[in-house]
Parts: sequence; C-alpha cells; structure tokens
Amino acid sequence: MSTAADPPDSDYVVIGNPVAHSLSPLIHARFAAQTGERLCYGRLLAEPDGFEAAAAGFFAAGGLGANVTVPFKEAAAAWVQERSPAAARAGAVNTIVRGAEGFRGLNTDGEGLVLDLRRLLGDSTAGLRVLVLGAGGAVRGILEPLLGLDPERLTLSNRTLARAEVLAADFAEAAPAGVLQVAALDVLAGPFDLIINGTSAGLSGEVPGLDRRLARGAFCYDLVYGAATPFCRWAQAAGASGHADGVGMLVEQAALAFEAWRGKRPDSGAVLAELHSARGAEAG
Ligand code: NAP
Repeated sequence: MSTAADPPDSDYVVIGNPVAHSLSPLIHARFAAQTGERLCYGRLLAEPDGFEAAAAGFFAAGGLGANVTVPFKEAAAAWVQERSPAAARAGAVNTIVRGAEGFRGLNTDGEGLVLDLRRLLGDSTAGLRVLVLGAGGAVRGILEPLLGLDPERLTLSNRTLARAEVLAADFAEAAPAGVLQVAALDVLAGPFDLIINGTSAGLSGEVPGLDRRLARGAFCYDLVYGAATPFCRWAQAAGASGHADGVGMLVEQAALAFEAWRGKRPDSGAVLAELHSARGAEAG
C-alpha cells in the first residue's frame, strides 16, 4: 500500500484510509480558485497503523497542512504538539496547521456541522429537543458545538449504550444541568425537533434501530454524505419535516481549515451549490 501523496507535489493533503473517495481535493481546489490562492491539495493513503509515518514523511517533504479523516483523527490528536480547545475536548484532530513552533491540531467538524445546521434551519436553532445517535469520534467532535446551540435537551443514544454514557460523563460540565441525557435506542421518548445520525451505519447500508415514529415532524441530519443515504431515505419515509446528508458539514469544515491555513475564508455556499447541482445532474 502506498503512502505517497497524490499528486506527489501536494502542499496540502487529506490523510485517511480509505481516502480515494474524498471530496476534499475538489472542495479545496474550488476554494483556491475563489480566493486566488495557489495551492496543490491531494490525497494521502496511509497504512492502517501508519498515520505517524505518513504525516511525518509528508511534512518533512515540505507539506504545509493536512486534513485527517477516518480512522486517524485520534492518532492525529496524539501526534500534534498543540491542540485547539475544541480538538483537546474532542480528543480528535481533523486539521493540522504547520506553525513556527510545530504542528497545531484543530477540530473543525463540530463548527462545520453547526454552520450547516444554521443554513438549513435558519435562526430557529435554539431551544431544540435534539437526539444524537452514535458515540464514536464524530459525535465526540460535535457534542460541544451542539450544546452551544442552547438546546432544551440533548439526548445521546448508541447501539452500545455504555459508550454513550462515557461520552455524556466526559461532556457533563459543558451542559447546563438536565440538558444532556442518555437513553437506550429502544426506550427513547420523543418528541424531538432535530435528530442527528452520527453513526457510520449508513456506510454499510444500514440505519440505527430507531422507532420511526420519533422522526415524524423532526428534521433529520445524517453525518454520512451521499445523494440518498439510508438514514435520509428512512427519515423521508418516516415523515420527517426535512432531511439532509453531511455534505454541507464537509464543505463547512473544509472552509474553516482553509481559513486556518491561508487566512482567507472561502465562499462555502457556492461550492455546496455546485456539489448539489452535480448530484442533480447525475440523478437526471
Ligand atoms: P466511529 O468512531 O467508528 O463510530 C461509529 C459509530 O457508529 C459508533 O457509535 C457505532 O456504534 C455506530 N454504528 C456503526 N454501525 C452501526 C450500525 N449498523 N447500527 C447502529 N450503530 C452503528 O466513527 P466516527 O468517526 O464517529 O464517524 C461516524 C460517521 O460520521 C462516519 O460515517 C463518518 O464518515 C461521518 N463523518 C462525517 C463528517 C462530515 O463532514 N460530513 C465528519 C466526520 C464524520 P457502537 O458504539 O455500538 O459500535
């Protein structure tokens, strides 16, 4: 398995395994064109236990910055010398910035999700009854930004309940009393205004085992992205008030990374519109 960047002269890369499917090179190429920045962004496939070697080799060859995706976000948090507060709390890094003092790790996933939710839901993001499904690295990264939306309650549920309980304990101090709750999938009590699927079930064509009545009237958001993810199809059939996949979050977290590297904030809305229109063309 190669650990060479593609293209080989990239000054920014996304490091992952797998990584061939990543939309990040396309998104960053559009951001560069918009802002007049010259940068070459590629993909770097690392061995399953080879994040450190891949990152060290890339930066030794002059790399300027990297995004990190599955399954290396925790390894990246351990590798960098400094972590932003969001990355430290999440224990996961999705953006590495090369600085004079060494490597700084950021986590822009949660803020990216919140930006996308604000675009989708407008000003009505406070006081929501939120259900978050999953307890892996992605949920760890989004919990605090979601609590920052000031929900009426935020219920965590997961196939393996003990993992949700650990997560809730870790974030207890970030939530006002009574807001952060944990419940098993089969005893969840609604109603919910917003249901976020933070599991990777969709990657294997599955949907978390949730009573479909809970989705009726709720807005359903899937962190997994794709034209019609299993969770989005499930939500539509269950009578959700609306649904969205995670492509908006992907573009927003990329815009935040681009700004951290280049000091310029790109127009994420234009790139998202392009990706949606490409999907429409494929479907047509
Ligand atoms: P992870 O650490 O491997 O955690 C996976 C989670 O999904 C666990 O809670 C696991 O439950 C649950 N799960 C897996 N298969 C399931 C199934 N068949 N039924 C019910 N639950 C299931 O993964 P992660 O890093 O948190 O990532 C989760 C997803 O978010 C991935 O698909 C990733 O692509 C996506 N993501 C998207 C963006 C974006 O920008 N849109 C950003 C970050 C992540 P157990 O604990 O019971 O195993």
